[in-house]
Amino acid sequence: MKKVFLSRLICGMMMITILLLSACSGGKGTDAYDTAEFFAMDTSMSLKIWGGEDGCERVQNRAAELDRALSAVDEDSEIYSLNRDGSAALGADALALVRRSLELCAELGGSFDVTVYPAVREWGFTTGGYTVPDPGRLSELAQRIDYRAVELDGDTVTLPEGVMIDLGAVAKGYLADEARTVLEEIGADCAVLNLGGTILLYGEKADGSSFKVGIADPDSPASYFGYLTLGEGVAATSGGYERYFERDGKRYIHILDPATAAPADNGVTSVTVFTGEGARADAMSTALFVMGKEAAAQYYLSHDGFEYVMLMSDGTLYISGGIADSFTLSDGYGFNIVTIKRDRS
Ligand code: AMP
Ligand code: MG
Repeated sequence: MKKVFLSRLICGMMMITILLLSACSGGKGTDAYDTAEFFAMDTSMSLKIWGGEDGCERVQNRAAELDRALSAVDEDSEIYSLNRDGSAALGADALALVRRSLELCAELGGSFDVTVYPAVREWGFTTGGYTVPDPGRLSELAQRIDYRAVELDGDTVTLPEGVMIDLGAVAKGYLADEARTVLEEIGADCAVLNLGGTILLYGEKADGSSFKVGIADPDSPASYFGYLTLGEGVAATSGGYERYFERDGKRYIHILDPATAAPADNGVTSVTVFTGEGARADAMSTALFVMGKEAAAQYYLSHDGFEYVMLMSDGTLYISGGIADSFTLSDGYGFNIVTIKRDRS
């Protein structure tokens, strides 16, 4: 009797130790997961990874590495040197992302344009020293925004006088793609990575259920106005509420229209894009925000491979046909929901 009790006790203690170990190291238990919260790319990130070894540590290291290479404001970054000197040989990450970003700029018709940086600086969004440039200055800035002016030769990128680039609208999406590579390498089972509003959904949950992704209410970003039930992919959200300032009763947001060098001011308050590639999801959420409700709907109808949710300041919520059934409005929100359907006849 005593012997049985002792062996049960030892067995129980071993199990507790195994559970604790797997919770800390991301072992294969169904409930055990590895988790981390940290600050990178000027935003807070939180990770939850089931299975695999050291997933959180490796993703966090990758985030820090990309931040160091891609930041436009960090004086030690490769992009900072490129903007300062007008030409630079870039490392693998910065080069890959500049290359992919230029493709996305073309694909998105210039509403996403990485050469928007001089305008972002002029408005004060990099420092918090906000100003409203006069119309003459804005048209000067707008004339210099053109991603086609960026020259790529081998690993060297060259910018014309007065042109600077900003990968801020696409870097978190690229991190999502790089994080996915880490998860594949370590053999993770499942992961939900919130990379500052760009969310990577990876693998399958142990209970077979779908992922739920809340969409922040622009008027109260700690609350969700609704949520999407999704499978694997990346959901990226762009919102004016993330960074803005007010002057004389008017709000100026950090998402700029490359055509005018001024903040997008078209009634859009938030756009979420869901697609397989992180860089595309991120660039596209910024681009659809700039396009506005009509051009975004037109873009959706003529392009495959993504879905979106767009909230307007008048309470109209546009949802693309492929995820309309996956959306649930939270209690207390009376939005007027309009579904945009691709004609497949
Ligand atoms: P996101 O939060 O992904 O929409 O990215 C917004 C950030 O990207 C801003 O803070 C700017 O640094 C930069 N940005 C603003 N407007 C644009 C634009 N039209 N195209 C590319 N980058 C932009
Ligand atoms: Mg973006």
